[in-house]
This record gives sequence, structure tokens and C-alpha cells, in this order.
Amino acid sequence: MTQAINSTQALYRCLPAMDSLLLIPQVMSFIDQQGKPWVKSLLAQMLQDARQQIAKNQSLPSWCLDSSHVAEELAGRIVCAQRQSMTPVINLTGTILHTNLGRSQMCEAAIAAVTGVMRSPVPLEFDMGQGKRGHRDSAISALIHELTGADSCCIVNNNAAAVLLMLAATSAGKEVIVSRGELVEIGGAFRIPDIMAQAGCKLVEVGCTNRTHLKDYAAAISENTAAIMKVHTSNYHISGFTKATEEAELAALCKARGIALISDLGSGALTDLSRFGLSKEPMPQQMLKDGVNLVSFSGDKLLGGPQAGLVVGDAELIAKLQAHPLKRALRCDKMTLAALEATLMQYRNPEALDTQLPIFRKLSRSKAELEQLAHHLVAACTPFHPLFEVRSQASQTQVGSGSQPDVLLDSVSVCFTAKPESQLSLQQLDSHFKAAEIPIIGRITANQLWLDLRGSDNDQQLARVLTQVGKTVAAMSLGGCQ
Ligand SMILES: *Cc1c(COP(=O)(O)O)cnc(C)c1O
Repeated sequence: MTQAINSTQALYRCLPAMDSLLLIPQVMSFIDQQGKPWVKSLLAQMLQDARQQIAKNQSLPSWCLDSSHVAEELAGRIVCAQRQSMTPVINLTGTILHTNLGRSQMCEAAIAAVTGVMRSPVPLEFDMGQGKRGHRDSAISALIHELTGADSCCIVNNNAAAVLLMLAATSAGKEVIVSRGELVEIGGAFRIPDIMAQAGCKLVEVGCTNRTHLKDYAAAISENTAAIMKVHTSNYHISGFTKATEEAELAALCKARGIALISDLGSGALTDLSRFGLSKEPMPQQMLKDGVNLVSFSGDKLLGGPQAGLVVGDAELIAKLQAHPLKRALRCDKMTLAALEATLMQYRNPEALDTQLPIFRKLSRSKAELEQLAHHLVAACTPFHPLFEVRSQASQTQVGSGSQPDVLLDSVSVCFTAKPESQLSLQQLDSHFKAAEIPIIGRITANQLWLDLRGSDNDQQLARVLTQVGKTVAAMSLGGCQ
């Protein structure tokens, strides 16, 4: 039929009218289920796409030729549009805390807690008989006190927000002293000098990139100084001829001069991580003991909880943060607070963290265990063999999100190399992995596609999805279409 129509104008005349599409019985039943405005906008898009196809290729899409194909095309578009963009994926990129993949996976206790508060009202800021209307961070404050010894805490959306609020509430209109070795960029638009400006503080830089001494700080203190800020250089490492001034020394100086000592710790850990093969992170509880007044850190970095920023420390300063107008703009909702509370409770038993928190479960898996998994998965990968060589190879996993930049954990990857006769490229294989029922996200480097197994949290599921993708690829090698 399309061959008979040879002028573009004639093709345009073949396009059905919207009114007639809306009268097709199957379309009417979609309207009953989904509502007319949305179905009509999908049909309008189909007509628009058809016009483009005529203009570009002088042809008609097949649905224009038969009303039963209209319903089929519409059904396909409805399914596509209803697919949620935030569906689970399997992160085998070799970076455990991947900011672009949402950082932490929650522990089961946090999942249960969030599910509960989603369904019901909760006493977030409500007097339950203790005689006062608590603020929304009070429940967590008590837990933070138990775990870190901090007098009080303030919880906001992320650590960037925590730093902004900490500066605005303690130092707006005044000077804040920072070492030149700590003027970090965390990624995106988070740069210490910019955050200072946003908080209305005047940055006073002291020392040099590699060395800053106590006397540098002392000389910079004026009657306008509100605070000294330490920034944890969590995402890079300077070595060689270096000197940073310790918190305890700075605390004594700040106390003597009547100013605050605040610290942006970022990837804070509440427990010694050397048992998971990680290097020792500075811990908020140690900083408070050393005399730091306020410490801020992320909920979704090494804590393994939801995205959140925690500021812990002196009650008087925390009260200023709680009373600041920015707190209202940056505060967390009940779901985040429930997930954070459940995550923090796991820290009452640090020995069990590697079974409870997904991040430590992944980081603490032995290489032997991963090798065994790789062996099993490679054996299940025979369907790929016509097109790809599949073998296990040693690799290294990084923690990610700027945490522990120097630490690389031994790992094992399943690696795919395209055979010379393969009609599929590694990029196309990667697309197949990403189109799987549960997308698998790997990494292409050195002419191989790597699936780093330290990221797996459900090995059976991974084996199942891998086999499914293998079948799709095998069908293609037999000349299947797509
Ligand atoms: C990660 C980090 C931030 C930003 O924290 P987010 O939770 O990503 O907002 C700020 N400062 C330091 C030192 C960090 O490590």
C-alpha cells in the first residue's frame, strides 16, 4: 500500500484524524482505564512521530494502516511510559558508593522503618506525654549521644547542607579561617570558598597547600573571627613534605581566643573500619573528644544510611542551627529520619555491621568467596560464547563518593572480550546488560567489559539475569533480529 502512494502530500492525507482514533473500541477501553487527557496526548505524540517519519523517510508507520495496530502501538507506549525510571539496578562498576547510582543501599531494618512511616502518621514533632513538643531530630539526638557522646545534633538533607547551615548559623557576617590545604572541591558545585560565600562568611585562607601550622591560624585570628574550620580532604591525598594542624591543638587555641572550631568531616565513620580492610577514617566521636565544637558528616557515605547531613556537637551551637531559618528549608522528612535512626541503631553492635549493612557486607567479602562466585558465573555464561570470550580476572574495587581515595580492595570480575567474528560490539553488549529486566551496570575498559563482583548483593539474582542476557545474545548470534 505504501508503495502505491508516492507523494508526500498523499501520505499526510493517510494519517487518521484524532477524532476517529478516539472512537476505536480498544482505544476507548484504554481511556476508561487511564483517563482521556493522557491517552489523547499519547495519540497526539503518535501522530506527531508519524508526520516526522513522512517528512524524513516518505513512509508511514505501520499502525496508520490498520486500526488494530493503533491499539497495539498505544499499548506499547503506555507500558513504556509507566516504567519507572528509578528501578533497581545491579552495580558492578567497581565503585561501591556510586553517587550516580544513589550511593548507599539501606539495611533491612531501615527499609522496614521507612515502609512503616510511609503508611502511617508518626509522632515526628509531637508531644507523646513527656510534656514538651520535641523537635524532629530529638529521637536521633539521643541515639547520637549514645554513639558519639555528642550533646546534641541537627539533621539536614545532605552534608553540603550541613556545612552551609553550620557556617550560616555560627559565622554569618564574620570571618572563618581555613587552611589552604583544605579548600576542597567535592564535586558538582560544592567548593568550600563558594559555600562560605553562600553562608555569608568571609573566608580567611592561611598556610600553604602542603603545610599549615598552628601559628598560621593564631596569627589570622582577629576581632571579626567567628570560627576556624577544618575540612577533611576525603577525596584526595597529599603526601610528602606536609603538615596539618591537629584538632586538639586547634581546640586549645580556639578556646583561649573565644572562637568556635568546626569540622567538615564528610565521609564520617562511627566505627574503626580497619576490620573491613579500610584505612582508619577520622571519627566524629574522636574529634569531639579532641575539643571540636561541631562536626558534620554524610549519612550515605561510610555510615551506610540514607542521604542526610549530620551536625553533632555542643548543645548551645546546635540550638543556633536548629533555630536558623535555613534549618526549616533543609530539614529531612520522616522517611529519611526513620531510615537514619534504624541505620544508627546498627552501630550499637559494630561486630555485626558486616552482616547488617550492605556497604560493609560488600566491602568485607573475601577474595576467595568472590573467586568462587566468578567461577560459577563464568560457567553459566556459555550462551555468550559464540560472540564473546568470558573469563574471570582479578580487579580492584574502590569505595567511591570521595571516600577513602587511596584504598583499593582486591576483587574479581567477570570479563567479556568480543571475538573477532562477533557481530556485536562491547558497547552493544553493555546496552543488552542495561536493558535487562534488572539492569546490570558494568564498565568498559582495556577492550573488555568488566562486571566487578564485589558490587553483587544477591548472587542468585545476578546469575539469573546474566543467563537471561546470555540467551538474548545467543539468539542474536543465530541470526535473530533486533
Ligand atoms: C562528601 C563531602 C561533602 C558533601 O557531602 P554530600 O553528602 O555529598 O552533600 C562535603 N564535605 C566533605 C569533606 C565531603 O567528603
